[in-house]
Amino acid sequence: MPGHNHQLHQGDSLKQAARERLTGQGEQWTGMREAVFEALAGFDRPASAYDIAEAVSASLGRRIAANSVYRILDLFVGSNLARRVESANAYVANAHPDCLHDCIFLICDSCGQTVHLDDDQLSGGVRDAAKSAGFTAPRPMIEVRGTCGECETD
Ligand SMILES: [Zn+2]
Ligand SMILES: [Zn+2]
Ligand SMILES: [Zn+2]
Repeated sequence: MPGHNHQLHQGDSLKQAARERLTGQGEQWTGMREAVFEALAGFDRPASAYDIAEAVSASLGRRIAANSVYRILDLFVGSNLARRVESANAYVANAHPDCLHDCIFLICDSCGQTVHLDDDQLSGGVRDAAKSAGFTAPRPMIEVRGTCGECETD
């Protein structure tokens, strides 16, 4: 998406953008989906369905099963509201639900903090390499492990 207005949302603006994206796809923004999205967006590191189920149970004051959270997370990933961080086996809220990118994640080995980067030139190079190797419709998943600046200075 070259030259588009790349907007990173947070807080209420992120929730609003997520709701518009989901309802724009003909899906309902239910109270349960909102609670799951809020819980997901509240983590500063990738969260598992279990982490989110616990946070949602606490905020709604009733027990929510991880299975129902999984289904909603699947929907969110399919609608660009969330991304799966494969190497952490967990999810993050997507700060740019309005536009599609091959998001790149930097994950700290010691604290789990995750930085989300978008570099279409870099991921485009990976796509092109995959196509040259005969792959069709490649989906680059680029994750970098290391130690974040905060942990390094401790
Ligand atoms: Zn963008
Ligand atoms: Zn991204
Ligand atoms: Zn760290």
